[in-house]
Amino acid sequence: MLTTLRHIVMQFTSHSHLADGVKSLVRDVKTAMDTDVCSIYLLNSEHTAYVLAATDGLNPDEVGHAELALEQGLVGLVGRRAEPINLENAREHPDYHFLPDTGEEAFHSFLGVPIIHQRRVLGVLVVQQTAQRKFDESEEAFLVTLAAQLATVVSHAEAVGDSALSDDAHDQVDTCFMGVPGSPGIAFGTAVVVHPVANLEAVPEREVDNIVVELALLERALHAVREDIKNIIEEFSESLPKQELALFDAYLHMLDENALAGDIRREVQHGQWAQGALKKVIIEHVSRFELMEDPYLRERGADVRDLGLRLLAYLQDIREKKTVFPKNAVLVGEDVTPAMLANIPAERLCAIVSGQGSSNSHVAILARAMGIPAVMGAVDLPTYDVEDELLLVDGHYGEVFFRPSEQRIAMSEELIEQERIFDEELTELRDVPTITRDGWRVLLWVNIGLSGDLTRSLDRGAEGIGLFRTEIPFMSKDRFPTEAEQLSIYREHMLAFEPNPVTMRTLDIGGDKSLSYFPINEENPFLGWRGIRVTLDHPEIFLVQVRAMLKANAGLEGVLRIMLPMISSPAELRAGKSLINQAFNEVTEEGVDVKKPQVGVMVEVPAAVYQARQLAKEADFLAVGSNDLTQYMLAVDRNNPRVAQIYQELHPAVITALREVARAAHSEEKGIGICGEFAGTPVGAVLLMAMGYNVLSMNATHLPKVKWVIRQIKRTDARRMLAKVLRMQSAEEVSEFMYQQLTDAGLGRVLPHHHD
Ligand code: PEP
Ligand code: MG
Repeated sequence: MLTTLRHIVMQFTSHSHLADGVKSLVRDVKTAMDTDVCSIYLLNSEHTAYVLAATDGLNPDEVGHAELALEQGLVGLVGRRAEPINLENAREHPDYHFLPDTGEEAFHSFLGVPIIHQRRVLGVLVVQQTAQRKFDESEEAFLVTLAAQLATVVSHAEAVGDSALSDDAHDQVDTCFMGVPGSPGIAFGTAVVVHPVANLEAVPEREVDNIVVELALLERALHAVREDIKNIIEEFSESLPKQELALFDAYLHMLDENALAGDIRREVQHGQWAQGALKKVIIEHVSRFELMEDPYLRERGADVRDLGLRLLAYLQDIREKKTVFPKNAVLVGEDVTPAMLANIPAERLCAIVSGQGSSNSHVAILARAMGIPAVMGAVDLPTYDVEDELLLVDGHYGEVFFRPSEQRIAMSEELIEQERIFDEELTELRDVPTITRDGWRVLLWVNIGLSGDLTRSLDRGAEGIGLFRTEIPFMSKDRFPTEAEQLSIYREHMLAFEPNPVTMRTLDIGGDKSLSYFPINEENPFLGWRGIRVTLDHPEIFLVQVRAMLKANAGLEGVLRIMLPMISSPAELRAGKSLINQAFNEVTEEGVDVKKPQVGVMVEVPAAVYQARQLAKEADFLAVGSNDLTQYMLAVDRNNPRVAQIYQELHPAVITALREVARAAHSEEKGIGICGEFAGTPVGAVLLMAMGYNVLSMNATHLPKVKWVIRQIKRTDARRMLAKVLRMQSAEEVSEFMYQQLTDAGLGRVLPHHHD
């Protein structure tokens, strides 16, 4: 059954037009199930009726004509119920509706299954039979499985205007494909699809006698790829910071004798031709990476594959075909790799869209460093069908609009222009304090990680660092950084912010962040060995880091705040504090004059919300990590585009938790901050300020807007809004209400644009 299913799906997808695909589908299903009729009905573009899109068994002249309204017939019933209907004698069913001219009167048994994509019924797949035959359960299951696999293809085809019901493709479909935000900003331009240049899987194994020739070919390819990568490094050396450029150095290392090159050469020496040897080694390496649970390491698998394909292209003498690029090119690929960026001159590149990956992928990191909007994980975008098409990329929301309407383009142009003007105005607020109109002071600090963040933060008038994500410097190394190496990075930031406070988070690896030299393989990494759990198990790593933090702060006025991630009990806080004390004593014994740091807890696990009071009693401050808190409260993976719609920071449960944490900190008279993305949204900032959060720490990009909105509002008004919000039942309700409130208060320009 599985082979048949695969065969039918492959045949179906091999057609470039849906109309041809459905024709082959009904033929194949009819044969496979040995029935008299197989038909497919698809929802028309007005969503008012199911139209016969293909049939094998009924009158073919009725294709495109015979139709059933949504409430009509058994097909309509399958659609309404969104489940299969299996009848031995269809004509006895009260919903049976006879379609004249199709010739279906001859058929008794009926099995119809819905074709559903993302909760939406797109059509119905039907088989019918003359003699009374009850299709059995396995046949029903077969058809259901098939329909589920077809659904994505049908939905993709229709989204790009390839309708099976009409010959003319729609001119403008303005379809939105969701991904995850990779890098903020809006841009539109022409899609340039990058394909992997060669197909590794298609390379056959072949024994050869003339090993010398194969070795020479291999050498030539290795040399050519090394040169390409060096050129990429050179091309980006001006526009990219050192840390990001190092990604390409890693590519060069992978080509080293003691990495890929050596392994491939050994295979050739055993008699395999160069292409076969390459295929074997690359596939082995890639599958080793792909088996790893850890997303960071899986990304490295993609790098190896990319290199393999580049080598193969030289071995097969295939060169990149594209030489001319549109002015505003949107680079699109099933899995865009850093090296692919080099295919387009930087000044022509306006946005990036990748079917795979998350905000953690290297391409997203590079896009942010280059200031180009990017959407990652756009899994539903039919990458290969969008070549030369106009795409609108919204990196704020992770949305890609295919063939955007003129109206949407005009709206976006306006938004881009407004953002530019507003940004200019906002620079004037750089040095003014963040105070509400009724005199409530809020501190706006920044989250720091990437190398470019420091200048950006100072330019935007940040008054402190609320979150230093220390794992980023750990990630760019091939071993744990030494105390001296850490000290120098930390000191650089503390000096830049002197005399303002700096909050250093202790190493927070695990989950979606991992170190290549310290792999963690787990079934469920977000619920696994993460954050403080790792560092308490490895005091040697923790102590070195804390010592580096303390020493970096020596002689400075700025307060050092050490923050512990993923705390889920007071015991973990006590254990962390005890190690910090130990490090403090060691550093003092070494004769370095250091101040006692403040020690805070990140509240990002629901357990910490319920123990916030106790944690606040024993800590110097609490800071909510709302990114993780939201994912854990709602049980929604923060990086998974499929569930992105229900990752809601405005969910009443999350809002209530945030308020409870603030109350707990207030009761113990401790500082309360937040450093998740929520703090950087205008709605979030207003609600948090109303709750009494005194530190809002955010991505530097968002700081000026948040400052602007807080300076325009009264805290009493914000508290009135919060009181209403706390009685609401859904994120949608909260969002609508807050948008209205802020718009009515004349603050609409700060809100992210709303899509219909
Ligand atoms: C958070 O979880 O909200 C947070 C600030 O930490 P990170 O995003 O680094 O997990
Ligand atoms: Mg976190």
